[in-house]
Amino acid sequence: MLNLVIFGPPGCGKGTQSARIANKYGLMHLSSGDLLRNEIEKGSDLGNHVKHYVEKGFLVPDSIILKKVYKNTIRFINSAGIIFDGFPRSLVQAVMLDKFLNKKGLNLNMVIHMLVDRSELFNRLTGRAEDSGRKDDTEQIFRVRMRVYEKQTHCLKEYYSAQNKILQVNGMAPVEEVSAKIANAIDYYREKNEVFSDVI
Ligand code: AMP
Repeated sequence: MLNLVIFGPPGCGKGTQSARIANKYGLMHLSSGDLLRNEIEKGSDLGNHVKHYVEKGFLVPDSIILKKVYKNTIRFINSAGIIFDGFPRSLVQAVMLDKFLNKKGLNLNMVIHMLVDRSELFNRLTGRAEDSGRKDDTEQIFRVRMRVYEKQTHCLKEYYSAQNKILQVNGMAPVEEVSAKIANAIDYYREKNEVFSDVI
């Protein structure tokens, strides 16, 4: 299996890039945000429970998201691989994911860190709000999500750097260019079993 994680600040393009990579390599796209939004839309107990967190831009409790992700990972265990989009989002989640995968005899191959300037993120998100209909695509919630990212998620960079798994990608380039660079890095990894250390 080829198992990837993609993370970055809100609006960095991780959803778009995940879908493109999943399509190119036949991977399962596991988006924790989509899983939660589906539950909210269905009006399930879980959806009603997490609605407040998602709409206000806070992380939902680890126990909830871990359960959801584990269940879906098991569903995909016989696939070509999984791209985890939006998960893990904290150190605890990252450690738990490693433990869970190890128990199943699996591991993460590469962790894609998307780099985008704050001003560009803000422009993208406010632009996206008109099309996405997402309640968390407002200026106020963007600021909350940005703070949450800086405080709880950005530290994943150190965690995965220590495992030599971090691929840093300039996410300011056009979508196709970013996808091509990531694909290049994936192909390189498959050939050499090594992750590019430079920002691409
Ligand atoms: P996303 O679609 O990845 O931007 O996620 C949207 C929202 O879902 C986030 O702002 C959080 O409220 C929630 N969420 C998604 N993934 C996670 C996660 N791994 N841990 C906790 N909350 C999450």
